[in-house]
Amino acid sequence: MSQLKAFMAQKPVLIADGAAGTMLQKVGLKPGRAPDGWNLENPEAVRALHKGYLDAGADILYTNTFGGTRYRLGRDGLGDKVKEINLAGARLARDIASDAHLVFGDIGPTGAMLEPLGAVTFEEAAAAFAEQAGALAAGGVDAIIIETLSDLNEARAAVEGVRFACNLPILATMSFDTKGRTMFGVKPEKAAQARWALGVDIIGANCGRTLSETLTAVLKMREAVPDAVLMAKPNAGLPHTEGEALVYDVTPEVMAEFALRFVAEAGVKIFGGCCGSTPAHIKALATALT
Ligand SMILES: [Zn+2]
Repeated sequence: MSQLKAFMAQKPVLIADGAAGTMLQKVGLKPGRAPDGWNLENPEAVRALHKGYLDAGADILYTNTFGGTRYRLGRDGLGDKVKEINLAGARLARDIASDAHLVFGDIGPTGAMLEPLGAVTFEEAAAAFAEQAGALAAGGVDAIIIETLSDLNEARAAVEGVRFACNLPILATMSFDTKGRTMFGVKPEKAAQARWALGVDIIGANCGRTLSETLTAVLKMREAVPDAVLMAKPNAGLPHTEGEALVYDVTPEVMAEFALRFVAEAGVKIFGGCCGSTPAHIKALATALT
């Protein structure tokens, strides 16, 4: 049995952690820069980020490797550091989580468009995902989470790449941030059917816009694939600017109320927070759910 299954057998709902990018920006990461580089340059900050979520009650840590493909890292001049950055990211989370918590190796979009819209071929994308997943697996993660994707074709390439690199369980969530669909126009029903058909262990939604929009998306997934194991990791609402700062206005209390609704109405088995969520949000929802 995988560690993921063992943990799921013990608890009806597992608590995932909250945001990484917006949290690291609060301690000096420049907006627009991939937070992944800090696994090598500022590991203390990444360790503190993980520790904050474990102390808040998270069962699951995501590695700080959301932008860890060679395409996304290449934008920051780190395209030749895929192995080091992902291995370090996995080890940082693994060390602090020990065996008492799960570590998900986090894979986000390449940021490059796949053919026919862009220049990257399906095979090239799959190879980039395989390269990242191989390093995450070598660093000791328990599962691979493919998240915030908008393009079903890229999601397929990611699943194929991860399978090529390792035998770990795979989770896949997409972001429904454009009038109830992904940026590429994919409806939640379609996303659920397509990903479930790929044999992914858990599917769901993350990031997005408001909590209620993400709840609607997950309810549509439930309707489309009644047997699916679902998860959600929504943003703490939409940000607005106050001076230089981006402020997310969903309070920990509201996040906790929604956590209960995601579980009761959509039957999600894993719940956490995306952009704008903090250890206070995770603490509130962990308290509500346990
Ligand atoms: Zn997000």
